[in-house]
Amino acid sequence: MSTLIYGLGESGISVARALLDRDEPIVAADANDSRELRATLAKLGVEGRLDAGPEALEGIGRVVVSPGIRPQDAVLSAAETKGIPVVSEVGFGLELLGPGVRTVAVTGTNGKTTVVDMIRKILEQADIPHAVAGNSWRALTGCLGEVRQTGLLILEVSSFQLHYMDDPGFEVAALLNARPDHLNWHASFEEYVVDKLRIFDGQGSKDLALVSAADPIGRDAVARLSAETLVIGEGETAIRDGRLFLRGEEICGEAEFGFAGKHNHENALFAAAAAERVGAGLGVIRAGLLDYRLKPHRMEIVAERDGVLYVDDSKATNPAAVSAALASFERPVVLILGGSEKHTDFAEVLPALDHCRAVVCHGEAGPRIFDYLRGNWDGPVTIATELAETVEEAESLAQTGDVVLLSPGCASFDQFSGYEERGRVFASLASGDFVAGRASESRG
Ligand code: ADP
Repeated sequence: MSTLIYGLGESGISVARALLDRDEPIVAADANDSRELRATLAKLGVEGRLDAGPEALEGIGRVVVSPGIRPQDAVLSAAETKGIPVVSEVGFGLELLGPGVRTVAVTGTNGKTTVVDMIRKILEQADIPHAVAGNSWRALTGCLGEVRQTGLLILEVSSFQLHYMDDPGFEVAALLNARPDHLNWHASFEEYVVDKLRIFDGQGSKDLALVSAADPIGRDAVARLSAETLVIGEGETAIRDGRLFLRGEEICGEAEFGFAGKHNHENALFAAAAAERVGAGLGVIRAGLLDYRLKPHRMEIVAERDGVLYVDDSKATNPAAVSAALASFERPVVLILGGSEKHTDFAEVLPALDHCRAVVCHGEAGPRIFDYLRGNWDGPVTIATELAETVEEAESLAQTGDVVLLSPGCASFDQFSGYEERGRVFASLASGDFVAGRASESRG
């Protein structure tokens, strides 16, 4: 029976290639139809179904699904009704890898990319061969040879990918946090949490589970975990008096880092614990973390003008990330919120607004957030539409010594191709060299 590859983005193409290499029969399908998708099918040279519905399941033995397709989708619901197994691209990649590869898996609502990147940095410093894949990195099925060769996989996994994964049994599994997000994909927060906790499925007593003391979901899970469990932020692995300790050993002081934010210092502890487990010593952990710089669009200082600091945190696409960003500044903040509408509850941001000078809302979700803040917060709130107008407004509200922070708490697809473009346009506006329509190109 054939495998149906459902969703023909980067990960779907990668699965198709992996199966074609193994001479296995496949059908490639997508719920949409476009010139690009037709070109993809032609390039792969396989049987394809575009604009696909449940009829695409005829003669299919299993479905490999791309992240981003909701479980409520017609094809996936029909597969469930018919008892046809559905697996995510990452789950399928793990199946193809088989045993013999050590895996460190990282999930969480916020911080996944940063923690994986910190682990990568430490392992590079330690000369420990490894391969990085998953979620915001490359598709796992596209780099199986390299993963086998290094014998160590550092994997970023989203809740979408975990939803369709059975008993992965990771040697190290880290749940950084679980806060409301992506509720347009998951049926409920409870279902989202169930998916996040799948990261610990299949672990045994020789494996390591990492959770955060600050995260109620992780803490509650501890009693049910079979692996050795380290609660980051508690006991001997915590930040005490501004210094980081891993199992009682001091790594470094917070002031020595080249990045700000308590949340990032906690991320560093997660990375340290994971890296230690796969062979990195304290010296290289320290060196790797001190050398580490955050990836772009995460709390990135992009301009300083007239005594005002402009910070691009465009990657903050949910309220929990906004709270973490706000908690990182002692200076007054003019906060820019808004973007595409996910109907997220912004209540989590309220306690963090106490040192905000003002909030400027914008974009599709702008009016709803504006109404919400007007009803629930005493500070000044204004509203704008385009980002250019928004930054101008923030600039007029900011005083010398303030921070103008783009930490939107929403996705960017209402006005941009993604968070990167939004961040680039913001940086361009902040530094005053914006030319309408050319900001993203001018910054590359
Ligand atoms: P992810 O890959 O999970 O989206 P990133 O590392 O790309 O995470 O960071 C996304 C956003 O979340 C950024 O705005 C960042 O400042 C914020 N963030 C990073 N780590 C944490 C954390 N541990 N808790 C809360 N927010 C965080």
